[in-house]
Amino acid sequence: MNLILMGLPGAGKGTQAEKIVEKYNIPHISTGDMFRLAIKEGTALGKEAKSFMDKGELVPDEVTIGIVRERLSKDDCEKGFLLDGFPRTIAQAEALENLLKDMNESLDYVLHIDVPTDQLVERLTGRRVCPTCGATYHVIYNPPKVEGKCDKDGSELIQREDDKPETVRKRLDVNIEQTQPMLDFYKDKGYLVTIKGDQDINQVFKDIDEKLGGLSK
Ligand SMILES: [Zn+2]
Repeated sequence: MNLILMGLPGAGKGTQAEKIVEKYNIPHISTGDMFRLAIKEGTALGKEAKSFMDKGELVPDEVTIGIVRERLSKDDCEKGFLLDGFPRTIAQAEALENLLKDMNESLDYVLHIDVPTDQLVERLTGRRVCPTCGATYHVIYNPPKVEGKCDKDGSELIQREDDKPETVRKRLDVNIEQTQPMLDFYKDKGYLVTIKGDQDINQVFKDIDEKLGGLSK
């Protein structure tokens, strides 16, 4: 089963990816992991990618696509894959199509976990962190026993700069702008499946599972 997972920050992609991987026995392939592996293995493409990253530059598409190809050719992708964070642009999406065609493969679904922006802001701004032990809490979904204090060591919890409302809204806006063309692209191709993400975690997975359940590969 060849899948792409899409969703804005806070939509719960990580949690759902874990569940999909466990049930369908396919690897969760995030862009970051893919680059780290190629660099660690010291492949020619990995070295090339690293030279751009060391300079703080964006890795060019042709290098990225090459690394995707190497990753998808590995044994653990025999039953398929769950791509996360790639493709990021229409050019990359088109390159991925050609790459899969080359491998005699094709996409099955592009899963989009859809959560209304206001709820994402609520989720993302509610995060609190303990500066002492690193434990994370959420004012609504996972509150500490005593408001504002770490359960483990009593430290005063803090809100990261990244989690402040203004920063969160900006980050989401940038993401929406980048993501929308991809959603349109995959919708036109008939791959897009929109999953309602503003419900219980287990229900979200149930919806995904129902959609995928009919597929055997
Ligand atoms: Zn703590």
